[in-house]
Amino acid sequence: MPRPIHATIHTAALHHNLERVRKSVPDAKVWAVVKANAYGHGIERAYEGLRGADGFAMIDLAEAERVRQLGWRGPILLLEGVFEARDLELCSRLGLWHAVHCDEQIDMLAAHKTQVPHRVFLKMNSGMNRLGFTPQRYRAAWARLNALPQVDEISFMTHFSDADGPRGIAHQMAAFNEATADLPGERTLSNSAATLRHSSDAAVRGDWVRAGIVLYGNAPDHPENTAGHWGLAPTMTLATKLLAVQQLQAGDTVGYGSNFVADGPLTIGVAACGYGDGYPRHCPTGTPVLVNGVRTRLVGRVSMDMVTVDLTPLLQAGMEVGFGSEVTLWGRASNGAVLTIDEVAEPAGTVSWELMCALAQRVPVTVE
Ligand SMILES: *Cc1c(COP(=O)(O)O)cnc(C)c1O
Repeated sequence: MPRPIHATIHTAALHHNLERVRKSVPDAKVWAVVKANAYGHGIERAYEGLRGADGFAMIDLAEAERVRQLGWRGPILLLEGVFEARDLELCSRLGLWHAVHCDEQIDMLAAHKTQVPHRVFLKMNSGMNRLGFTPQRYRAAWARLNALPQVDEISFMTHFSDADGPRGIAHQMAAFNEATADLPGERTLSNSAATLRHSSDAAVRGDWVRAGIVLYGNAPDHPENTAGHWGLAPTMTLATKLLAVQQLQAGDTVGYGSNFVADGPLTIGVAACGYGDGYPRHCPTGTPVLVNGVRTRLVGRVSMDMVTVDLTPLLQAGMEVGFGSEVTLWGRASNGAVLTIDEVAEPAGTVSWELMCALAQRVPVTVE
């Protein structure tokens, strides 16, 4: 038998979260961002739940091909555009829309032989300082693109650095609006955080929003707000079972490094999940976990194949627990209890995005 660990992708939850995005931006189209293999869910596994989107956006050309192979005939956007000239051939063949963020990409387009003019999204660096033309250089880039026979429609794109936090988006909005005010074409600005927090402004909504993390059921601004606050449902459950139970006495330690010391009698369970499955090794004692759907805590260090959990809350409630009991690392337990990935990511000093993407290859995944 394989180890008891498995992940479940919840199709209905993906659908629900997409509808939640639509409620925030009823007059905008929605890109479902499926980069990093649909945030670790698997593009093919997430497709059914997300096919109600208006388009799919990703980074990798191979992922764009996979979406076409699933039968998707609608818009696909490459968020970083092409990486080398021959990528444009695939864009022509598969009808991929692509970002243009630098002069080299315009050079490649100018040299590209195609019967099908491309739709491009001209990216502005409005303050993030990763990709895009600065506001000062934006208009010249637009004029160059606009003169190319290889280009038919030009849309406008930027990306926010602080849509989830106190700095906000006003400075970037001002830069973007000023440089694009009189240019004709569709606009896309908002990631998940901007879509949920700033979309009362029509200019922020634009024509398309780019929804990533929100589709996968996590709050883009945790811990200020929770997934529950935003009405999001978990789309991935990581669950396993107890392999063993140990009775500790005062002074006994647990696991590598002995960094947890029992201060009195304590019953712990050993669960079949570790950092080799993508569970973060940085999760400290106290990180929440569900056993039989009851909230308890991790104790001791995470190992490659095992974690140890405190069974006190179950024993106090007089519940049966032991070998084979259900352990939910994140997602939804059999009794309906939810533990969000945000709640596990935060004590590990990271974010839900990283945990989902890091789900290990060895974990079997089913779709429901
Ligand atoms: C990843 C990404 C998004 C989605 O971000 P979320 O915070 O997950 O919603 C949107 N736009 C671009 C350009 C991205 O790279």
